[in-house]
Amino acid sequence: ARKFFVGGNFKMNGSTEQIKKIVSGLNNAKLNPEVEVVIAPPFPYLALAASENKQSTVAISGQDTYYKDNGAFTGATSVSMLQDVGATWVILGHSERRSLFGETSEEVAKKTKYALDKGMKVILCIGESKEERDSKRTFSVCSGQTHAVIKALSPSDWANVVIAYEPVWAIGTGLTATPVDAQEVHKQLREFLTTNISAEVANATRIIYGGSVNAKTAPDLSKEADIDGFLVGGASLKPEFIEIINV
Ligand code: 13P
Repeated sequence: ARKFFVGGNFKMNGSTEQIKKIVSGLNNAKLNPEVEVVIAPPFPYLALAASENKQSTVAISGQDTYYKDNGAFTGATSVSMLQDVGATWVILGHSERRSLFGETSEEVAKKTKYALDKGMKVILCIGESKEERDSKRTFSVCSGQTHAVIKALSPSDWANVVIAYEPVWAIGTGLTATPVDAQEVHKQLREFLTTNISAEVANATRIIYGGSVNAKTAPDLSKEADIDGFLVGGASLKPEFIEIINV
């Protein structure tokens, strides 16, 4: 069985005080030991989150990285820097990176391969916009974004990748995908992995859902066969995050 995975993407939110509060909230909570938890604070707070964290099931993630180790790349943060401050995961290809910062699927694939080769684990985000869903292009968009990464990786790399399906229209809007809608895409994605990589990889890879997940919507979503966890934005900054972990 695939281990349930819950990620908290803090996005560009937080302060020293707030990060300490969130991490101590997690430290003092009774977390389901069967759930793998990853929190992704902004870069300046990664070291703080890593040093404050006392939960063995909670790991730390960056929200982006670059495919060079160091040098003249103003504004970029390398994989080795993330690792140096205690992060073991990195979120790549988030829709906000794609739409606001112009990241292409090819760049996401390059970053993913680079990070994996350096021993980092990757939360790979994919998802369609409202316009794409309305014009029935959901699966072609999601499979295209995934295929760019499949081409860059070897089958064994997938052991360290979690796919986050995050429909853009559901992110930060309060419009969670219904369990049926999300399950349909997750199932198609798993079939896509079977066809394009192997049944073994498809069966083992966690496909998590993101987009307005909260304590109310998490229980029903978590019951779907191909939903292996969540990537939580807004609610990961609140005590509600613990309820989602323990869903
Ligand atoms: P919200 O949970 O705030 O909709 O954000 C989802 C997300 O983008 C997580 O990466």
